[in-house]
Amino acid sequence: MSQYNHITENYREIRDTLPSDISIVVAAKNRSPAEVLAAVRAGADKIGENYVQEAESLKPILDAESDRKVEMHLIGHLQRNKVNKALGVCDTIQSIDSLKIARAVNKRLSSKAPPLPVLIQVNIAGEDSKYGIAQNELESLLLDIIELKNLQVKGLMTMEPFFAEPEKSRPYFVDMRKLFDKTSRMDIPGVDMEWLSMGMTNSYKVAVDEGANMVRIGTAIFGPREK
Ligand SMILES: *Cc1c(COP(=O)(O)O)cnc(C)c1O
Repeated sequence: MSQYNHITENYREIRDTLPSDISIVVAAKNRSPAEVLAAVRAGADKIGENYVQEAESLKPILDAESDRKVEMHLIGHLQRNKVNKALGVCDTIQSIDSLKIARAVNKRLSSKAPPLPVLIQVNIAGEDSKYGIAQNELESLLLDIIELKNLQVKGLMTMEPFFAEPEKSRPYFVDMRKLFDKTSRMDIPGVDMEWLSMGMTNSYKVAVDEGANMVRIGTAIFGPREK
């Protein structure tokens, strides 16, 4: 218990400093279930996983140990051969980055169940090293995705370029916010622009300044990654 006190304190401190309408997704990659549980016990209600396999091993532990519903969000790139497994454990997929993967997910969902909330991942700086669609492809992707009735688009996600100096990320967050607002104003039937997911440990304060209402934080909660 006590060896995880820092996690409890870090989570609570971040939660207290952010307005209550900003969601925190606890980025859990490479953390042990015990570490993630410490964050859940401190109040976390959304866990972000990069790897489907980690989500699969965490899910039963969360279900058994938490008396509240804790949402599992996939925040890492989804491969087509992992779609079935991802759907077994994820409540939201934040990393929809092509029509192909959207179709693969849609196909494996039942039309009798409520549609799966998804975010579209945008590669806002056009980096070769990052997943996500280009800004200028967003509109046509959305128009295609609304035909996929088992998915519900709930917003946008981005991973901004990394800078040691977080101020340098600001222009990318501004661009995302503009894209988010523009897309919201288009009022595409079936698209519900609720979440703008951006900002990580180093940058979340700047992201929130610029309009993020969902931040994804790992290191500031758990400490530096060892693995
Ligand atoms: C790791 C990760 C985060 C959190 O990064 P930290 O710097 O540890 O807060 C957020 N989003 C994604 C997609 C990640 O892979």
